[in-house]
Amino acid sequence: MSAAIPKHIDNPAVLYMDGVSVSFDGFKALNSLSMVIAPGEMRAIIGPNGAGKTTMMDVITGKTRPDNGTIVFTDSSNTQYDLTRYDEAAVANLGVGRKFQKPSVIESLTVFENLEMSLKGGRGLWAALTHKLGAEKAAKLDEILGLIDLADKADWLAGSLSHGQKQWLEIGMLLGQEPQLLLIDEPAAGMTDEETMKTAALFKQLAKKYSLMVVEHDMDFIEALDCKVTVLHEGHVLAEGSLATVKANPQVIEVYLGR
Ligand code: ADP
Ligand code: MG
Repeated sequence: MSAAIPKHIDNPAVLYMDGVSVSFDGFKALNSLSMVIAPGEMRAIIGPNGAGKTTMMDVITGKTRPDNGTIVFTDSSNTQYDLTRYDEAAVANLGVGRKFQKPSVIESLTVFENLEMSLKGGRGLWAALTHKLGAEKAAKLDEILGLIDLADKADWLAGSLSHGQKQWLEIGMLLGQEPQLLLIDEPAAGMTDEETMKTAALFKQLAKKYSLMVVEHDMDFIEALDCKVTVLHEGHVLAEGSLATVKANPQVIEVYLGR
């Protein structure tokens, strides 16, 4: 008998977008946008206000339906989904987690309780009755608390956290949903320089386990992420490459950096 031939496993993009367009009253917010994110990749997205960065996240997550184009998400079991056919809740369930700019943690609950609530599948009836989490969920919460550096503040009310700590808690709550791809819009906005750098370090940790797409204007932050950068302008990709490469691109300087 011949030995089993290992099945060839493709390594498809975790996110594949091609020719995606969206118009609002005739204005093209996205104009034939194409982008590919590899599994485990962290990608930074920059570009002037109105370039379509948030709209791009809206079409990926089912909030806005594109007029044209393909958006395919490949999950960890290599199943492919046409995201344009799913609504927001369904896209989140497939494994695409999104963090908005404004934190939405429940301030009157503790850090731990916020995370507990976010866990995929909820706490379950038995856990709710006994106030006990299963070992697996408890371990997951410990891991998340460590990652977001809030282990020593697990019993704090979320409302007593700093702005930066609330943002990290919210990222922790996203992780509770066990996403594969994280979309994060302007995480450093309103953060101190120290919090911004700590956030970059957190994202580098996350990139070991998840694929990330991060929109940000803060160039020190982008530099600290040390990943491939895509520049959006007028709803399409203007340039892509290392930060040094795109920073030296005359068109990028003209429409974004030089102003
Ligand atoms: P960015 O996040 O890069 O600053 P946005 O994606 O928010 O840009 O916006 C891109 C363009 O699309 C802007 O001109 C904005 O006014 C417009 N736009 C975004 N969402 C809507 C909407 N729901 N209705 C009408 N116009 C919108
Ligand atoms: Mg935006």
